[in-house]
Amino acid sequence: MVEEAKLIGTLKEYFGYDSFRPQQREIIKAVFEGRDNLVIMPTGGGKSICFQLPAILLPGITIVISPLIALMKDQVDGLTANGISAAFLNSSQKEQEQQEIFRKIEKNEIKLLYVAPESLQYVDAVFSAGNISLIAIDEAHCISSWGHDFRPAYTQLGYLKNRHPETPVIALTATADKATRQDICDQLNIPHATHHLSSFDRKNLSLEVRPGTKKFEQILAFLKGRKSESGIIYCLSRKNTEELATKLQEKGYKAEAYHAGLSHNERIQIQEDFINDSNDIICATIAFGMGIDKSNVRWVIHYNMPKNLEGYYQEIGRAGRDGLPSSTLLFHSYADVVQLQKFAEGSGNAEIQLAKLERMKQYSEALSCRRRILLSYFGEIISEDCGNCDVCKNPPEFFDGTILAQKALSTVYRLKEQEPISMVIDVLRGAQNAQVLEKGYQGLSTYGIASDVSWRDWQQYIIQLINQGYLEIAFHDQNKIRLTSLAKNVLFEQEKVSLADVTQAELKKQPVVAEKTSENTLFERLRKLRLELSREEDIPAYLIFNDATLKEME
Ligand code: ADP
Ligand code: MG
Repeated sequence: MVEEAKLIGTLKEYFGYDSFRPQQREIIKAVFEGRDNLVIMPTGGGKSICFQLPAILLPGITIVISPLIALMKDQVDGLTANGISAAFLNSSQKEQEQQEIFRKIEKNEIKLLYVAPESLQYVDAVFSAGNISLIAIDEAHCISSWGHDFRPAYTQLGYLKNRHPETPVIALTATADKATRQDICDQLNIPHATHHLSSFDRKNLSLEVRPGTKKFEQILAFLKGRKSESGIIYCLSRKNTEELATKLQEKGYKAEAYHAGLSHNERIQIQEDFINDSNDIICATIAFGMGIDKSNVRWVIHYNMPKNLEGYYQEIGRAGRDGLPSSTLLFHSYADVVQLQKFAEGSGNAEIQLAKLERMKQYSEALSCRRRILLSYFGEIISEDCGNCDVCKNPPEFFDGTILAQKALSTVYRLKEQEPISMVIDVLRGAQNAQVLEKGYQGLSTYGIASDVSWRDWQQYIIQLINQGYLEIAFHDQNKIRLTSLAKNVLFEQEKVSLADVTQAELKKQPVVAEKTSENTLFERLRKLRLELSREEDIPAYLIFNDATLKEME
């Protein structure tokens, strides 16, 4: 176990910082305990130090798997400048260079060794030449085809833990959805890894979504009063980036296009001009951004809709790393959705990509706090609306939707969390289609309990319940709708749910049934509730659960 003073001293000596950011200390300590670790921390949160600092203090070498060969040299140069002995191995090097590095490895003169996933063949040689203390896998989401930046070479990495089971692994990423998290650990063979989840809430970023009509005019209006601020405009196509950059230049803005079709040197030049503030605006495809550390990006615009919320979150996350207020704007258009649907359908895992796109669309069409939606997607629940998104600033009308919520959640429960939204609605509305009847759902106690609400409205309400964190979609499991832990508060604690008014006014007037009780177990609470209500028929069907099902739920 390392002492606190040693950690702080090393932080100060090699990185020049006085204190750890949230989570860094805890993660570093877990590394020293020899455990496997999965670190989920937003972009700019400070993941690198979580393996770089242990690397300095551990007796042997830390191998770092990192996807960007282009940035490896910069990272190594940066570490060397801080007095940390670091090197990289990849296929672009001359044999002589590599031999020199291996000599250093044998003499235990290297602390951090960066290796591209394509160059894993070197790793075994490193293991036999030197003493390996830790394997760090940066941008670990690249291993998962459920993530947003899949790299085939990453799928080889599971081999490391198989071959060297005694060496601890730390996997790091900013992508946090549960399915991807699980997939990362499965594929890396680190089933017992400790998960470290940092807050993804970036309060200084304002969130705004607008219809994608007359986008260029809207951008010009947005840029008024932001003359020399740094910003990024993300586009779907290379052609878009170039056209937009040209149009902005014509209006007197310092703007450049950036995409994977440019030469390596051109790209480096554009990045540098942006980082040095000699250029203000980058019109880019998503090729731009990973590994770029610029703190004063004041705004990010999505000219087109991103294909999922992970990508969107990561891209807006490049704004405001200095903590100062920064703006984000997303243009939402049906044409983009159609285009993205085509891409998704043509991809290897169409079902998952389509479901993720659906969530992106729901976010864009949200009627409740956007930050809540975004964070709940990453499994994080905030207690209050953010006040810093367009919906909070200009909210729709809300009504007490507790009863609607109870009916929906109760139905999801009775369907054993095994059905998608459409079936939940069919049951609520008492639909008589073949599927419902075949499965015998007309026998459920909530069957037909809310036929007064139209199909379309139900869809809206259920999306709101997902967005508020009461329900979730298992998009890696046929889009089944599941209850979250918050759902129990609504079913058993009479927690109130506000829903945005989508149409029918009479729904607002329904009374709330039971009172809140302070008993500890669900079972006790429900039993008490039944005693309080004198007649059994006073209890609405959707709140009657038998004792066995309650026990099961606890
Ligand atoms: P990530 O990999 O999570 O995107 P980085 O590791 O690149 O983030 O760190 C982002 C920035 O935060 C870097 O400039 C880094 O030097 C800085 N940083 C990291 N830890 C600290 C700390 N404890 N105090 C101050 N700055 C820090
Ligand atoms: Mg990083």
